[in-house]
Amino acid sequence: MKRIDKAYINGEFTALHGTEIFELINPSNHEKIGEVILADQVDTRKAIAAAKEAFKTFSKTSVEERIQILKNLKNSVDKRKDEFIETMIQEYGGTRQFCTFSIDNMTRVFDDMIETLRDFEFDRKAGNTLVQMMSLGVVGIITPWNSSNSFICSKFATAVAAGCTVVVKPSEMSALQTQLIIEWFHEAGLPKGIFNVINGLGGIVGNEIVNHPDIAKISFTGSTNTGKMIAKGAVDTMKRVTLELGGKSPNIILDDADFEQAIPQAVFGAYMNSGQACIAPTRLLVPQSRLEEVNELAKQAALQILVGNPADENTNVGPMVSENQYNRVQSYIKLGLDEGAVLLTGGTGKPEGLENGNFVKATIFTNVRNDMRIAQEEIFGPVLSIISYENEEEAVAIANDTSYGLAAYITSSDENRALKIASQIEAGRVCVNGFKHDPLAPFGGFKQSGIGREFGTFGLEEYLEPKSILV
Ligand code: NAD
Repeated sequence: MKRIDKAYINGEFTALHGTEIFELINPSNHEKIGEVILADQVDTRKAIAAAKEAFKTFSKTSVEERIQILKNLKNSVDKRKDEFIETMIQEYGGTRQFCTFSIDNMTRVFDDMIETLRDFEFDRKAGNTLVQMMSLGVVGIITPWNSSNSFICSKFATAVAAGCTVVVKPSEMSALQTQLIIEWFHEAGLPKGIFNVINGLGGIVGNEIVNHPDIAKISFTGSTNTGKMIAKGAVDTMKRVTLELGGKSPNIILDDADFEQAIPQAVFGAYMNSGQACIAPTRLLVPQSRLEEVNELAKQAALQILVGNPADENTNVGPMVSENQYNRVQSYIKLGLDEGAVLLTGGTGKPEGLENGNFVKATIFTNVRNDMRIAQEEIFGPVLSIISYENEEEAVAIANDTSYGLAAYITSSDENRALKIASQIEAGRVCVNGFKHDPLAPFGGFKQSGIGREFGTFGLEEYLEPKSILV
Protein backbone atom coordinates (compact mmCIF):
# COMPACT_ATOMS: atom_id res chain seq x y z
CA MET A 1 0.00 0.00 0.00
CA LYS A 2 1.34 3.42 -0.96
CA ARG A 3 1.16 6.51 1.22
CA ILE A 4 1.53 9.96 -0.24
CA ASP A 5 2.15 12.52 2.46
CA LYS A 6 4.00 15.35 0.75
CA ALA A 7 3.24 18.15 -1.63
CA TYR A 8 5.69 19.22 -4.32
CA ILE A 9 6.55 22.85 -3.69
CA ASN A 10 9.49 24.88 -4.99
CA GLY A 11 11.22 21.80 -6.40
CA GLU A 12 11.02 19.86 -3.13
CA PHE A 13 8.88 17.13 -1.61
CA THR A 14 7.41 19.17 1.24
CA ALA A 15 5.71 18.09 4.48
CA LEU A 16 2.06 19.09 4.68
CA HIS A 17 0.15 21.29 7.09
CA GLY A 18 -3.11 19.52 6.10
CA THR A 19 -3.92 16.29 7.95
CA GLU A 20 -7.05 14.85 6.35
CA ILE A 21 -6.61 11.37 4.85
CA PHE A 22 -8.19 10.24 1.58
CA GLU A 23 -8.24 6.50 0.85
CA LEU A 24 -7.36 5.26 -2.63
CA ILE A 25 -9.56 2.32 -3.60
CA ASN A 26 -9.06 0.03 -6.59
CA PRO A 27 -12.41 0.28 -8.44
CA SER A 28 -12.06 -3.24 -9.89
CA ASN A 29 -12.17 -4.99 -6.49
CA HIS A 30 -12.65 -2.32 -3.80
CA GLU A 31 -9.26 -3.09 -2.21
CA LYS A 32 -7.45 -0.22 -0.56
CA ILE A 33 -4.31 0.48 -2.57
CA GLY A 34 -3.08 3.60 -0.89
CA GLU A 35 -3.83 6.79 0.94
CA VAL A 36 -3.03 10.42 0.41
CA ILE A 37 -2.79 13.21 2.95
CA LEU A 38 -4.75 16.16 1.67
CA ALA A 39 -3.32 19.66 1.59
CA ASP A 40 -5.13 22.64 3.08
CA GLN A 41 -5.21 26.41 2.52
CA VAL A 42 -1.83 26.92 4.21
CA ASP A 43 -0.15 24.43 1.86
CA THR A 44 -1.91 25.95 -1.12
CA ARG A 45 -0.72 29.46 -0.27
CA LYS A 46 2.83 28.18 0.11
CA ALA A 47 2.69 26.62 -3.38
CA ILE A 48 1.24 29.82 -4.88
CA ALA A 49 4.00 31.89 -3.24
CA ALA A 50 6.68 29.60 -4.71
CA ALA A 51 5.15 29.84 -8.18
CA LYS A 52 4.89 33.62 -7.87
CA GLU A 53 8.55 33.94 -6.93
CA ALA A 54 9.66 31.60 -9.74
CA PHE A 55 7.63 33.55 -12.32
CA LYS A 56 9.92 36.57 -11.89
CA THR A 57 12.80 34.77 -13.59
CA PHE A 58 11.01 32.09 -15.58
CA SER A 59 8.94 34.60 -17.54
CA LYS A 60 12.20 36.08 -18.84
CA THR A 61 13.61 32.81 -20.23
CA SER A 62 14.26 32.48 -23.95
CA VAL A 63 12.37 30.24 -26.34
CA GLU A 64 15.48 28.01 -26.59
CA GLU A 65 15.57 27.54 -22.81
CA ARG A 66 11.89 26.61 -22.74
CA ILE A 67 12.35 24.16 -25.60
CA GLN A 68 15.18 22.48 -23.68
CA ILE A 69 12.93 22.11 -20.62
CA LEU A 70 10.18 20.56 -22.77
CA LYS A 71 12.73 18.11 -24.21
CA ASN A 72 13.90 17.13 -20.72
CA LEU A 73 10.29 16.59 -19.62
CA LYS A 74 9.60 14.35 -22.60
CA ASN A 75 12.70 12.25 -21.93
CA SER A 76 11.84 11.66 -18.29
CA VAL A 77 8.25 10.68 -19.12
CA ASP A 78 9.34 8.30 -21.89
CA LYS A 79 11.43 6.23 -19.46
CA ARG A 80 8.62 5.07 -17.17
CA LYS A 81 5.62 4.58 -19.43
CA ASP A 82 4.91 0.97 -18.44
CA GLU A 83 4.83 1.70 -14.73
CA PHE A 84 2.39 4.50 -15.41
CA ILE A 85 0.00 2.30 -17.38
CA GLU A 86 -0.17 -0.21 -14.48
CA THR A 87 -0.88 2.63 -12.03
CA MET A 88 -3.69 4.03 -14.17
CA ILE A 89 -5.30 0.59 -14.42
CA GLN A 90 -5.13 0.13 -10.65
CA GLU A 91 -6.14 3.59 -9.61
CA TYR A 92 -9.10 4.48 -11.81
CA GLY A 93 -9.79 1.22 -13.63
CA GLY A 94 -8.80 2.54 -17.09
CA THR A 95 -8.57 -0.31 -19.59
CA ARG A 96 -5.13 -1.35 -20.79
CA GLN A 97 -6.20 -0.43 -24.33
CA PHE A 98 -7.19 3.11 -23.34
CA CYS A 99 -4.29 3.70 -20.92
CA THR A 100 -1.72 2.71 -23.58
CA PHE A 101 -3.30 5.13 -26.04
CA SER A 102 -3.49 7.83 -23.37
CA ILE A 103 0.20 7.47 -22.45
CA ASP A 104 1.28 7.79 -26.07
CA ASN A 105 -0.82 10.93 -26.28
CA MET A 106 0.76 12.25 -23.10
CA THR A 107 4.34 11.88 -24.30
CA ARG A 108 3.47 13.62 -27.58
CA VAL A 109 2.31 16.83 -25.93
CA PHE A 110 5.88 17.97 -25.26
CA ASP A 111 6.92 17.55 -28.91
CA ASP A 112 3.72 19.23 -30.07
CA MET A 113 4.40 22.23 -27.87
CA ILE A 114 8.02 22.42 -29.06
CA GLU A 115 6.71 22.50 -32.64
CA THR A 116 4.21 25.23 -31.76
CA LEU A 117 6.83 27.26 -29.95
CA ARG A 118 9.36 27.15 -32.78
CA ASP A 119 7.07 29.10 -35.14
CA PHE A 120 5.32 31.24 -32.57
CA GLU A 121 5.62 35.01 -32.83
CA PHE A 122 5.85 36.62 -29.40
CA ASP A 123 6.43 40.05 -31.00
CA ARG A 124 4.01 41.11 -33.71
CA LYS A 125 2.84 44.18 -35.57
CA ALA A 126 -0.77 45.46 -35.52
CA GLY A 127 -1.19 48.65 -37.52
CA ASN A 128 1.89 50.66 -36.61
CA THR A 129 2.05 49.17 -33.17
CA LEU A 130 4.36 46.60 -31.63
CA VAL A 131 2.35 43.88 -29.90
CA GLN A 132 4.20 41.79 -27.34
CA MET A 133 2.65 38.55 -26.15
CA MET A 134 3.44 38.57 -22.41
CA SER A 135 3.46 35.58 -20.04
CA LEU A 136 0.29 35.79 -17.96
CA GLY A 137 1.67 34.83 -14.55
CA VAL A 138 0.93 31.94 -12.20
CA VAL A 139 -1.55 29.46 -13.66
CA GLY A 140 -3.78 27.30 -11.45
CA ILE A 141 -4.26 23.94 -13.16
CA ILE A 142 -7.23 21.91 -11.92
CA THR A 143 -7.81 18.47 -13.47
CA PRO A 144 -10.26 15.51 -13.31
CA TRP A 145 -9.47 11.82 -12.75
CA ASN A 146 -10.17 10.53 -16.26
CA SER A 147 -6.85 10.71 -18.12
CA SER A 148 -5.44 12.98 -15.45
CA ASN A 149 -1.90 12.51 -16.84
CA SER A 150 -2.69 13.92 -20.29
CA PHE A 151 -4.32 17.02 -18.82
CA ILE A 152 -1.50 17.77 -16.38
CA CYS A 153 1.17 17.26 -19.06
CA SER A 154 -0.52 19.24 -21.83
CA LYS A 155 -1.43 22.16 -19.57
CA PHE A 156 2.03 22.28 -18.00
CA ALA A 157 3.75 21.99 -21.41
CA THR A 158 1.72 25.01 -22.58
CA ALA A 159 2.60 26.96 -19.44
CA VAL A 160 6.32 26.26 -19.94
CA ALA A 161 6.08 27.40 -23.57
CA ALA A 162 4.39 30.61 -22.42
CA GLY A 163 6.85 31.30 -19.60
CA CYS A 164 4.20 30.80 -16.91
CA THR A 165 4.63 28.94 -13.63
CA VAL A 166 1.95 26.62 -12.24
CA VAL A 167 0.20 25.25 -9.18
CA VAL A 168 -1.52 21.97 -10.04
CA LYS A 169 -4.48 20.56 -8.13
CA PRO A 170 -5.22 17.15 -9.60
CA SER A 171 -8.21 15.03 -8.67
CA GLU A 172 -7.64 13.46 -5.26
CA MET A 173 -8.61 10.18 -6.95
CA SER A 174 -5.47 10.39 -9.13
CA ALA A 175 -2.88 10.75 -6.35
CA LEU A 176 -0.78 7.70 -7.34
CA GLN A 177 -0.61 8.77 -10.98
CA THR A 178 0.19 12.33 -9.95
CA GLN A 179 3.01 11.11 -7.72
CA LEU A 180 4.68 9.41 -10.68
CA ILE A 181 4.36 12.55 -12.78
CA ILE A 182 5.97 14.60 -9.99
CA GLU A 183 8.86 12.11 -9.75
CA TRP A 184 9.42 12.30 -13.52
CA PHE A 185 9.36 16.05 -13.58
CA HIS A 186 11.62 16.23 -10.53
CA GLU A 187 14.14 14.05 -12.41
CA ALA A 188 13.89 16.40 -15.39
CA GLY A 189 15.62 19.03 -13.23
CA LEU A 190 13.13 21.86 -13.63
CA PRO A 191 13.90 25.38 -12.45
CA LYS A 192 12.68 25.55 -8.83
CA GLY A 193 9.11 26.70 -8.29
CA ILE A 194 7.82 26.53 -11.87
CA PHE A 195 5.90 23.30 -11.17
CA ASN A 196 4.10 22.90 -7.85
CA VAL A 197 1.55 20.19 -7.04
CA ILE A 198 -0.83 19.81 -4.14
CA ASN A 199 -3.32 17.02 -3.61
CA GLY A 200 -6.51 18.23 -2.02
CA LEU A 201 -10.25 18.64 -2.23
CA GLY A 202 -11.92 20.96 -4.73
CA GLY A 203 -13.79 22.89 -2.07
CA ILE A 204 -10.56 23.62 -0.14
CA VAL A 205 -7.44 23.61 -2.32
CA GLY A 206 -9.35 24.25 -5.58
CA ASN A 207 -11.30 27.06 -3.97
CA GLU A 208 -8.15 28.72 -2.62
CA ILE A 209 -6.53 28.62 -6.08
CA VAL A 210 -9.66 30.12 -7.65
CA ASN A 211 -9.85 32.98 -5.14
CA HIS A 212 -6.18 33.79 -4.57
CA PRO A 213 -5.14 37.16 -6.07
CA ASP A 214 -1.69 35.87 -7.10
CA ILE A 215 -3.16 33.36 -9.55
CA ALA A 216 -3.52 35.01 -12.97
CA LYS A 217 -5.35 32.24 -14.78
CA ILE A 218 -7.19 28.99 -14.18
CA SER A 219 -6.90 26.16 -16.67
CA PHE A 220 -9.62 23.73 -15.67
CA THR A 221 -10.82 20.41 -17.05
CA GLY A 222 -13.83 18.84 -15.37
CA SER A 223 -17.60 18.96 -15.10
CA THR A 224 -19.74 21.86 -16.27
CA ASN A 225 -21.11 22.40 -12.75
CA THR A 226 -17.65 22.84 -11.24
CA GLY A 227 -16.61 24.96 -14.23
CA LYS A 228 -19.46 27.38 -13.51
CA MET A 229 -18.39 27.70 -9.86
CA ILE A 230 -14.81 28.37 -10.95
CA ALA A 231 -15.85 31.00 -13.50
CA LYS A 232 -17.93 32.80 -10.84
CA GLY A 233 -15.09 32.71 -8.32
CA ALA A 234 -12.45 33.79 -10.84
CA VAL A 235 -14.25 36.96 -11.83
CA ASP A 236 -13.58 38.70 -8.50
CA THR A 237 -9.89 38.94 -9.34
CA MET A 238 -10.46 38.98 -13.12
CA LYS A 239 -8.57 35.75 -13.64
CA ARG A 240 -8.39 34.45 -17.17
CA VAL A 241 -10.07 31.06 -17.50
CA THR A 242 -9.86 28.14 -19.85
CA LEU A 243 -12.68 25.74 -19.05
CA GLU A 244 -12.80 22.30 -20.68
CA LEU A 245 -16.14 20.88 -19.55
CA GLY A 246 -18.65 18.14 -20.20
CA GLY A 247 -20.26 16.91 -23.40
CA LYS A 248 -23.13 14.94 -24.92
CA SER A 249 -21.73 14.49 -28.37
CA PRO A 250 -23.89 13.54 -31.37
CA ASN A 251 -22.75 10.93 -33.87
CA ILE A 252 -24.70 11.39 -37.13
CA ILE A 253 -24.78 8.39 -39.44
CA LEU A 254 -26.03 9.48 -42.87
CA ASP A 255 -28.13 7.14 -45.00
CA ASP A 256 -25.30 6.63 -47.52
CA ALA A 257 -22.85 5.34 -44.88
CA ASP A 258 -21.64 1.75 -44.69
CA PHE A 259 -23.80 0.74 -41.70
CA GLU A 260 -22.04 -2.60 -41.19
CA GLN A 261 -18.91 -0.64 -40.37
CA ALA A 262 -20.32 2.60 -38.95
CA ILE A 263 -22.68 1.18 -36.33
CA PRO A 264 -20.16 -1.11 -34.56
CA GLN A 265 -17.64 1.74 -34.67
CA ALA A 266 -20.24 4.04 -33.09
CA VAL A 267 -20.95 1.52 -30.30
CA PHE A 268 -17.26 0.96 -29.49
CA GLY A 269 -16.66 4.72 -29.63
CA ALA A 270 -19.41 5.48 -27.14
CA TYR A 271 -17.67 3.20 -24.66
CA MET A 272 -14.21 4.82 -24.96
CA ASN A 273 -12.52 5.07 -21.56
CA SER A 274 -15.38 2.89 -20.26
CA GLY A 275 -17.82 5.63 -21.26
CA GLN A 276 -15.99 8.07 -19.00
CA ALA A 277 -14.79 10.39 -21.77
CA CYS A 278 -15.88 13.98 -22.32
CA ILE A 279 -15.81 13.53 -26.12
CA ALA A 280 -17.63 10.17 -26.15
CA PRO A 281 -20.27 10.04 -28.92
CA THR A 282 -23.16 9.15 -26.63
CA ARG A 283 -26.05 10.19 -28.91
CA LEU A 284 -26.22 8.03 -32.04
CA LEU A 285 -28.39 9.75 -34.68
CA VAL A 286 -29.63 7.42 -37.42
CA PRO A 287 -32.21 7.60 -40.26
CA GLN A 288 -35.72 6.62 -39.09
CA SER A 289 -36.17 4.35 -42.12
CA ARG A 290 -33.12 2.26 -41.09
CA LEU A 291 -33.78 2.09 -37.33
CA GLU A 292 -34.53 -1.66 -37.23
CA GLU A 293 -31.32 -2.46 -39.08
CA VAL A 294 -29.34 -0.13 -36.77
CA ASN A 295 -30.83 -1.77 -33.66
CA GLU A 296 -29.79 -5.19 -34.88
CA LEU A 297 -26.25 -4.09 -35.76
CA ALA A 298 -25.86 -2.23 -32.45
CA LYS A 299 -27.04 -5.29 -30.52
CA GLN A 300 -24.54 -7.49 -32.34
CA ALA A 301 -21.75 -4.97 -31.66
CA ALA A 302 -22.64 -4.82 -27.96
CA LEU A 303 -22.19 -8.59 -27.76
CA GLN A 304 -18.55 -8.05 -28.78
CA ILE A 305 -17.95 -5.53 -25.98
CA LEU A 306 -15.96 -7.12 -23.19
CA VAL A 307 -16.71 -5.66 -19.75
CA GLY A 308 -14.27 -6.79 -17.07
CA ASN A 309 -10.77 -6.70 -15.63
CA PRO A 310 -9.18 -3.54 -17.07
CA ALA A 311 -5.73 -5.16 -16.95
CA ASP A 312 -6.75 -7.71 -19.62
CA GLU A 313 -5.69 -6.66 -23.09
CA ASN A 314 -9.05 -7.46 -24.66
CA THR A 315 -11.23 -5.62 -22.14
CA ASN A 316 -13.17 -2.71 -23.67
CA VAL A 317 -15.04 -1.47 -20.59
CA GLY A 318 -13.55 -1.42 -17.09
CA PRO A 319 -15.17 -0.37 -13.81
CA MET A 320 -16.50 3.10 -13.01
CA VAL A 321 -13.94 5.14 -11.09
CA SER A 322 -15.86 5.15 -7.79
CA GLU A 323 -19.00 3.81 -6.14
CA ASN A 324 -20.51 7.28 -6.48
CA GLN A 325 -19.95 7.20 -10.22
CA TYR A 326 -21.36 3.65 -10.38
CA ASN A 327 -24.51 4.76 -8.55
CA ARG A 328 -24.86 7.79 -10.79
CA VAL A 329 -24.73 5.65 -13.94
CA GLN A 330 -27.22 3.16 -12.43
CA SER A 331 -29.64 5.98 -11.68
CA TYR A 332 -29.47 7.12 -15.32
CA ILE A 333 -30.17 3.61 -16.60
CA LYS A 334 -33.26 3.47 -14.31
CA LEU A 335 -34.23 6.93 -15.55
CA GLY A 336 -34.01 5.81 -19.19
CA LEU A 337 -36.43 2.98 -18.43
CA ASP A 338 -38.77 5.37 -16.58
CA GLU A 339 -38.67 7.84 -19.46
CA GLY A 340 -39.87 5.13 -21.85
CA ALA A 341 -36.71 4.50 -23.85
CA VAL A 342 -36.38 0.93 -25.16
CA LEU A 343 -33.55 -1.07 -23.63
CA LEU A 344 -31.65 -2.84 -26.40
CA THR A 345 -28.82 -4.33 -24.32
CA GLY A 346 -27.41 -4.06 -20.79
CA GLY A 347 -29.54 -2.54 -18.04
CA THR A 348 -29.27 -2.02 -14.31
CA GLY A 349 -27.07 -4.05 -11.95
CA LYS A 350 -23.61 -5.52 -12.30
CA PRO A 351 -22.56 -8.01 -14.98
CA GLU A 352 -22.39 -11.60 -13.70
CA GLY A 353 -19.10 -12.45 -11.97
CA LEU A 354 -18.10 -8.80 -11.55
CA GLU A 355 -19.97 -8.07 -8.34
CA ASN A 356 -16.84 -6.95 -6.42
CA GLY A 357 -16.07 -3.88 -8.51
CA ASN A 358 -17.88 -0.83 -9.87
CA PHE A 359 -18.80 -2.58 -13.13
CA VAL A 360 -21.75 -1.47 -15.26
CA LYS A 361 -23.36 -3.46 -18.08
CA ALA A 362 -22.63 -2.04 -21.52
CA THR A 363 -26.03 -0.46 -22.13
CA ILE A 364 -27.83 0.75 -25.25
CA PHE A 365 -31.20 2.47 -25.34
CA THR A 366 -33.10 2.89 -28.59
CA ASN A 367 -36.24 4.88 -29.51
CA VAL A 368 -34.77 7.66 -27.41
CA ARG A 369 -36.26 11.13 -27.87
CA ASN A 370 -33.77 13.97 -27.73
CA ASP A 371 -35.77 15.75 -25.02
CA MET A 372 -35.35 12.82 -22.59
CA ARG A 373 -32.90 13.47 -19.78
CA ILE A 374 -30.75 10.48 -20.82
CA ALA A 375 -30.22 12.30 -24.15
CA GLN A 376 -29.61 15.72 -22.61
CA GLU A 377 -27.46 15.00 -19.54
CA GLU A 378 -23.91 13.72 -19.37
CA ILE A 379 -24.02 10.23 -17.84
CA PHE A 380 -20.27 9.47 -17.96
CA GLY A 381 -20.63 5.73 -18.20
CA PRO A 382 -21.16 3.05 -20.89
CA VAL A 383 -24.67 4.12 -21.88
CA LEU A 384 -25.53 4.88 -25.52
CA SER A 385 -28.77 6.47 -26.77
CA ILE A 386 -30.01 5.77 -30.31
CA ILE A 387 -32.17 8.60 -31.67
CA SER A 388 -33.78 8.57 -35.12
CA TYR A 389 -34.20 11.46 -37.55
CA GLU A 390 -36.42 11.94 -40.63
CA ASN A 391 -34.05 13.95 -42.82
CA GLU A 392 -30.69 15.75 -42.81
CA GLU A 393 -32.20 18.98 -41.56
CA GLU A 394 -33.69 17.23 -38.56
CA ALA A 395 -30.40 15.42 -37.90
CA VAL A 396 -28.62 18.77 -37.61
CA ALA A 397 -31.40 20.21 -35.43
CA ILE A 398 -31.24 17.24 -33.02
CA ALA A 399 -27.43 17.32 -32.96
CA ASN A 400 -27.51 21.00 -31.95
CA ASP A 401 -30.42 20.65 -29.52
CA THR A 402 -28.19 20.35 -26.44
CA SER A 403 -26.65 22.69 -23.91
CA TYR A 404 -23.26 21.10 -24.70
CA GLY A 405 -21.01 21.57 -27.74
CA LEU A 406 -17.74 19.75 -27.23
CA ALA A 407 -17.51 17.26 -30.10
CA ALA A 408 -19.58 15.78 -32.93
CA TYR A 409 -19.11 12.96 -35.43
CA ILE A 410 -20.48 12.47 -38.95
CA THR A 411 -20.25 9.37 -41.13
CA SER A 412 -21.05 9.38 -44.85
CA SER A 413 -19.67 7.88 -48.05
CA ASP A 414 -19.81 11.40 -49.51
CA GLU A 415 -17.23 13.58 -47.78
CA ASN A 416 -18.62 16.82 -49.24
CA ARG A 417 -22.06 16.03 -47.90
CA ALA A 418 -20.54 15.38 -44.47
CA LEU A 419 -18.56 18.62 -44.62
CA LYS A 420 -21.73 20.58 -45.43
CA ILE A 421 -23.32 19.17 -42.29
CA ALA A 422 -20.13 19.73 -40.25
CA SER A 423 -20.35 23.46 -41.01
CA GLN A 424 -23.81 23.60 -39.38
CA ILE A 425 -22.83 21.79 -36.17
CA GLU A 426 -22.34 23.78 -32.97
CA ALA A 427 -19.33 22.01 -31.47
CA GLY A 428 -15.66 22.74 -30.94
CA ARG A 429 -14.52 19.61 -32.78
CA VAL A 430 -16.31 17.76 -35.60
CA CYS A 431 -14.82 14.48 -36.87
CA VAL A 432 -15.78 13.22 -40.30
CA ASN A 433 -15.66 9.45 -40.90
CA GLY A 434 -14.03 8.18 -37.73
CA PHE A 435 -12.58 9.28 -34.42
CA LYS A 436 -9.73 11.64 -35.11
CA HIS A 437 -7.25 13.65 -33.09
CA ASP A 438 -4.98 16.45 -34.25
CA PRO A 439 -2.83 17.72 -31.37
CA LEU A 440 -2.12 21.01 -33.13
CA ALA A 441 -5.78 21.85 -33.82
CA PRO A 442 -7.68 23.90 -31.22
CA PHE A 443 -9.66 21.83 -28.71
CA GLY A 444 -12.52 23.14 -26.58
CA GLY A 445 -16.24 23.54 -26.33
CA PHE A 446 -19.09 25.65 -27.64
CA LYS A 447 -21.93 26.58 -25.26
CA GLN A 448 -21.77 24.90 -21.84
CA SER A 449 -18.89 22.65 -22.86
CA GLY A 450 -16.49 25.41 -21.98
CA ILE A 451 -14.62 28.61 -22.64
CA GLY A 452 -11.34 28.90 -24.54
CA ARG A 453 -9.19 26.46 -26.46
CA GLU A 454 -6.24 24.20 -25.75
CA PHE A 455 -3.39 22.81 -27.92
CA GLY A 456 -1.21 24.38 -30.56
CA THR A 457 -1.10 28.12 -31.23
CA PHE A 458 -4.65 28.72 -29.98
CA GLY A 459 -3.84 26.99 -26.70
CA LEU A 460 -0.56 28.86 -26.23
CA GLU A 461 -2.20 32.24 -26.77
CA GLU A 462 -4.51 31.57 -23.83
CA TYR A 463 -1.49 31.66 -21.49
CA LEU A 464 -0.35 35.02 -22.87
CA GLU A 465 -1.61 38.59 -22.71
CA PRO A 466 -1.11 40.96 -25.68
CA LYS A 467 0.55 44.27 -24.81
CA SER A 468 0.49 47.08 -27.39
CA ILE A 469 3.47 49.40 -27.41
CA LEU A 470 2.76 52.58 -29.33
CA VAL A 471 5.77 54.75 -30.08
P1 NAD B 1 -15.23 17.51 -11.33
O1 NAD B 1 -15.74 18.76 -11.91
O2 NAD B 1 -16.00 16.86 -10.25
O3 NAD B 1 -13.76 17.71 -10.76
C1 NAD B 1 -12.71 18.21 -11.55
C2 NAD B 1 -11.67 18.86 -10.65
O4 NAD B 1 -12.24 20.03 -10.05
C3 NAD B 1 -11.20 17.97 -9.50
O5 NAD B 1 -9.81 18.15 -9.30
C4 NAD B 1 -11.99 18.51 -8.32
O6 NAD B 1 -11.38 18.27 -7.07
C5 NAD B 1 -12.01 20.00 -8.65
N1 NAD B 1 -13.05 20.79 -7.97
C6 NAD B 1 -14.25 20.36 -7.49
N2 NAD B 1 -14.92 21.38 -6.91
C7 NAD B 1 -14.14 22.48 -7.04
C8 NAD B 1 -14.28 23.84 -6.64
N3 NAD B 1 -15.37 24.27 -5.99
N4 NAD B 1 -13.29 24.71 -6.92
C9 NAD B 1 -12.19 24.29 -7.60
N5 NAD B 1 -11.99 23.02 -7.98
C10 NAD B 1 -12.96 22.12 -7.71
O7 NAD B 1 -15.05 16.50 -12.56
P2 NAD B 1 -14.62 14.95 -12.52
O8 NAD B 1 -15.74 14.12 -12.04
O9 NAD B 1 -13.28 14.83 -11.86
O10 NAD B 1 -14.39 14.68 -14.10
C11 NAD B 1 -15.41 14.34 -14.97
C12 NAD B 1 -15.92 15.55 -15.73
O11 NAD B 1 -14.85 16.17 -16.43
C13 NAD B 1 -16.94 15.20 -16.80
O12 NAD B 1 -17.98 16.15 -16.76
C14 NAD B 1 -16.17 15.31 -18.10
O13 NAD B 1 -16.95 15.57 -19.24
C15 NAD B 1 -15.24 16.43 -17.78
N6 NAD B 1 -14.07 16.37 -18.68
C16 NAD B 1 -13.96 17.32 -19.68
C17 NAD B 1 -12.91 17.24 -20.58
C18 NAD B 1 -12.72 18.25 -21.67
O14 NAD B 1 -11.63 18.30 -22.24
N7 NAD B 1 -13.72 19.03 -22.01
C19 NAD B 1 -11.97 16.21 -20.46
C20 NAD B 1 -12.13 15.28 -19.43
C21 NAD B 1 -13.18 15.37 -18.54
